Amino acid sequence: MNDTAVSRGSRPDVDPASVTRPTIGVLALQGDIREHVAVLDLCGADPVLVRRPAELAAVDALVLPGGESTTISKLLEVFELLEPLRERLRDGMPAFGSCAGMILLADEVLDTRPDARHLSGIDMTVRRNAFGRQVDSFETDLEFAGVDGGPMRAVFIRAPWVERAGDGVEVLARVPSGPAAGRIVAVRQGAVLATSFHPEVTGDHRVHRLFVELVRDR
Ligand code: GLN
Repeated sequence: MNDTAVSRGSRPDVDPASVTRPTIGVLALQGDIREHVAVLDLCGADPVLVRRPAELAAVDALVLPGGESTTISKLLEVFELLEPLRERLRDGMPAFGSCAGMILLADEVLDTRPDARHLSGIDMTVRRNAFGRQVDSFETDLEFAGVDGGPMRAVFIRAPWVERAGDGVEVLARVPSGPAAGRIVAVRQGAVLATSFHPEVTGDHRVHRLFVELVRDR
């Protein structure tokens, strides 16, 4: 990638050297960790891998990658990160979860294993593997509230959707058409953001940019 210099910081009128680069952890237990690291770097953050409680304690914010939520859930317990992570979320740490990361951030999950654990970062109920077999993986263009620049390409891979969003939860995107039209696929509650799809794989960095700015504003 050779566009690092021009991509750093999203305000072209500001000298990139004077903009703080927040330290954003990427939960590195399983999933598409490297993709998030690369995009965070391009969006003006210093990404670091988080596998231990001490590493979690040192970050300004955390990204939970896509992958397999029940596996990540198990590893959170094995690596003794589950309680520390719940505590940091309760204390207001900004977080962004894509796909499996969205599932982990929910406070209730349908169609998962009975022993799966969740973080209650967002007051929502999420249905795992919600799109069913026929559209198990697909791409679409959708409107994403609060980002400029027109529709966003969204890649869904055995994705969840949000079945219930609590009162304090802002709906940022819905499926525009097809059998799942209207389903909620991006949400925000305070400084916690979640998408059913994978903005880390499309080359469109607007969601990560929004997240980095949100972290910087805290
Ligand atoms: N289906 C996966 C799960 O249940 C999520 C898929 C993904 O992250 N791409 O965790």
